[in-house]
Amino acid sequence: MTTDELREKLTYTKKNGYTLLTPEQRAEMNAYAKRYAAFMDACKTEREATSWAEAEAQAKGFQPMTPGKALKPGDKVYLNNRGKNIYLAVIGSAPLEEGMNLCAAHIDSPRLDLKPMPLYEDSEFAYFKTNYYGGVKKYQWPTIPLALHGVVSLQDGSVVTVKVGEDPEDPVLFITDLLIHLAREQMQKSLAEGITAEQLNVLLGTEPLEGEGADLVKLNILRILNEKYGITEADFRSAELTMVPAGKCREAGLDRSLLSAYGHDDRVCAYAALEPILELENPVHTCVCVLADREEIGSVGISGMQSRAFDTFVADICKSMDADPNQVLKNSFCLSSDVANAYDPTFADAFDRRNTSYVNYGVAIMKYTGRGGKSGASDASAEALGHVRKALDGAGVLWQINTIGRVDLGGGGTVAGFMANRNIVTVDAGVPLLGMHAPMELVGKLDAYMMMKASQAIYEV
Ligand code: MN
Ligand code: MN
Repeated sequence: MTTDELREKLTYTKKNGYTLLTPEQRAEMNAYAKRYAAFMDACKTEREATSWAEAEAQAKGFQPMTPGKALKPGDKVYLNNRGKNIYLAVIGSAPLEEGMNLCAAHIDSPRLDLKPMPLYEDSEFAYFKTNYYGGVKKYQWPTIPLALHGVVSLQDGSVVTVKVGEDPEDPVLFITDLLIHLAREQMQKSLAEGITAEQLNVLLGTEPLEGEGADLVKLNILRILNEKYGITEADFRSAELTMVPAGKCREAGLDRSLLSAYGHDDRVCAYAALEPILELENPVHTCVCVLADREEIGSVGISGMQSRAFDTFVADICKSMDADPNQVLKNSFCLSSDVANAYDPTFADAFDRRNTSYVNYGVAIMKYTGRGGKSGASDASAEALGHVRKALDGAGVLWQINTIGRVDLGGGGTVAGFMANRNIVTVDAGVPLLGMHAPMELVGKLDAYMMMKASQAIYEV
């Protein structure tokens, strides 16, 4: 063989996905990007994503899971777990003990939650106090338009939904920063200290009510909230309210190859897992889409991936199919779908160029995540990776490998370990992301589209 032939035969060369995309795929990709953007505009919290998924599932013939009711191949069921996360299943024709094909992603994103008693007045400004949720660079949150999303449980037990800042007619809210002219001391601080958590106070208003007494600006804000939502200050104690970046998912780049949005982590994988299961008819193996909450704070809690709510859903399906849950789990496969760190040339030394993912090179497959010597990683086996390789190559899905940046620089985790702990073979995969956890993140349309094709390929194994 010549050297060129040997090189062709023996070496592995990464290719930019745009060199491989057919015109039909390009058209499909652009159509998918529009559907995904519509989902993103409607869903900025786990609750909104859960409601959206439930409504779409019902429209596609999914029924709420009823424990004890027999299931047959082709049946479609779901469990809305307390409005915070959702599991959807389509029953396959093969015996359930042959295992299920799962795609698991999370629908919570980093944000600024309101403190339980958030409202106060200082120097005739009304504010909300916040407590950040998930890993954020605090300095990124002042001086960008924010929206208020969430629910309030009233004394009578009824729940009102709050959303301000998304409609073009709505006001938006802001956290202020210090003017540069007086920032010499602030500018000497580290990025971690330049804006502190207790400075992330959301400015709500400046106009006092007419009359005498203290806190007339705050009282005016309470009046506005009461008129619109019927809530009082006492109701904040039983509320779940959060500040998220205001605005829509948009095309980005002069060539429109990217999408900018709040919360691509991990709704770009969640939508990719959801859309194909909604269209799935009569799969061979039973397929499950898991949209989890609380990933950003360790997958703990009743709606996180460690919750037994998922095990109960699986157990109920097994009971309805007369199958042994231990055998079902043992033979199941899960694609743990979560976003990956795309190579960013501006911060080149944070990455290992031979082992990082690139925008436009397709789905990023991760053998392991974790930090400091793979700690906390599920670390998939060669066989598990081989399974994914075969499924994705067979379906023509573009993919690449990824590791979480330079070793010992940082790290991260996903829900993978919690699925693997359940005796489910699990592999991490996701969409490469620029600016992960920033108020606005960027993904390549091509990679988002390939992620959906990857989920589809896993369901169809
Ligand atoms: Mn994530
Ligand atoms: Mn994250």
